[in-house]
Amino acid sequence: MKTIIEPFKIKSVEPIRFTTREERIKILEEAGYNPFLIHADDVIIDLLTDSGTSAMSAKQWAGIMEGDEAYAGSKSFFRFESAVRDLTGDKFIIPTHQGRAAEKILFSIVGGEGKYVPNNTHFDTTRANVEFSGAEAVDLVCEVGKHPEQRADFKGDMDVEKLIKFIEETGVENIPLVMITVTNNSGGGQPVSMQNIKDVRAVCDKYGLPLFFDACRFAENAFFIKKREKGYENKSVKEICQEMFSYGDGSTMSAKKDALVNIGGFLTLNNEELAMKCRNLLIVTEGFPTYGGLAGRDLEALAQGLEEIVDENYLTYRIRSTEYLGEKLIDAGVPIIEPPGGHAIYIDAKRFLPNVPANQFPGQAITNELYIVGGVRAVEIGSVMFGKYDENGNHVAPPMELVRMAIPRRVYTQSHIDYVLEVILEVYENRDKLKGYEFTYEAPMLRHFTAKFKPI
Ligand SMILES: *Cc1c(COP(=O)(O)O)cnc(C)c1O
Repeated sequence: MKTIIEPFKIKSVEPIRFTTREERIKILEEAGYNPFLIHADDVIIDLLTDSGTSAMSAKQWAGIMEGDEAYAGSKSFFRFESAVRDLTGDKFIIPTHQGRAAEKILFSIVGGEGKYVPNNTHFDTTRANVEFSGAEAVDLVCEVGKHPEQRADFKGDMDVEKLIKFIEETGVENIPLVMITVTNNSGGGQPVSMQNIKDVRAVCDKYGLPLFFDACRFAENAFFIKKREKGYENKSVKEICQEMFSYGDGSTMSAKKDALVNIGGFLTLNNEELAMKCRNLLIVTEGFPTYGGLAGRDLEALAQGLEEIVDENYLTYRIRSTEYLGEKLIDAGVPIIEPPGGHAIYIDAKRFLPNVPANQFPGQAITNELYIVGGVRAVEIGSVMFGKYDENGNHVAPPMELVRMAIPRRVYTQSHIDYVLEVILEVYENRDKLKGYEFTYEAPMLRHFTAKFKPI
């Protein structure tokens, strides 16, 4: 087989500003050893997130000029609505400024005190919006999805037995809807199988519950189904997406992921009464129903992005570049979540740095060293992000200590990925020299964004 190449030519470029190791040591120190506080201009390869960091196509940029900025009934809204409906088949399509705005509107209406929302794994903003409404967010991912070192094709699947038990114990009347996140971002970008989606649909039918998708990476999930699930190898990715959405009653979407835009989102629904309530809330918090917090030009670029995301040459390149980085790391013995997910590689910091205890933040130590060695920005997803304290002030670690390297869509080429690989391998070879960190400043909530550290 020949090399899978980037399925695009580059028309517009953004120069990378190079820094030396000495400069980076100083920059990191000045940022309190927290890469969130580094200026993006001081980063060589930025793998902080794949959210809103995609490169738009020439046609999307042309759409930016074409955007119709009418307050009501904009032509761009109707193009957006028909692109979303073409994929989801849903009746009511509501634009929002990003994914969490769709979640906020939905859960403000269906959530509330005494309610429970099951999901394979809630993404942080989804969990926050469920909990903010007073409801409880419950994660029911399958057992294999909790073990970074175990390989399986669909580690994002919902545990259907657990779901049934959960519904029986909680009571249907206390569950407004069941949600499935595709791909399972918080569980390592792992896909959900069509069989699992059908099984969850059957459970929802039995109990009369609506099924919603957190659809942020629907196209990456569909591509995994095509590659891994029997019976789908000859279906187009678009057909697979349409089949998946056909089992749902609605979805929330961050267009900053699989719609290839820098800002945007939407909420789709089939239930008219619920849709009316959502629209009314949208008008208060986001804007008129034909723009929902976005400009006409954003809707135009989003509609175009939805057409481009199901292109199988794009998805082949996309999934391959993540897998390529993952495979090379596995070959070199670097511990990562296996198999590689769709949008990111997750280093297992516990196995990478067994001598740095959780309360000295092994993930932060690796993240900082990646920056010093090569100007690569990753993000710690472990004790810094999710650690808590018990009554006695002792640190309580989350189950996993990870370092996520998310790959922006269409931004980097294979040589960038090769460079990242070299940087990780250099950090891995010198791992015995790495030391942990301690806080010098810590905010009471979401501390990872603003925390400052010093090396131990
Ligand atoms: C990014 C993301 C969201 C939230 O979307 P925003 O556009 O960042 O508000 C929700 N769910 C998942 C799975 C995500 O990846």
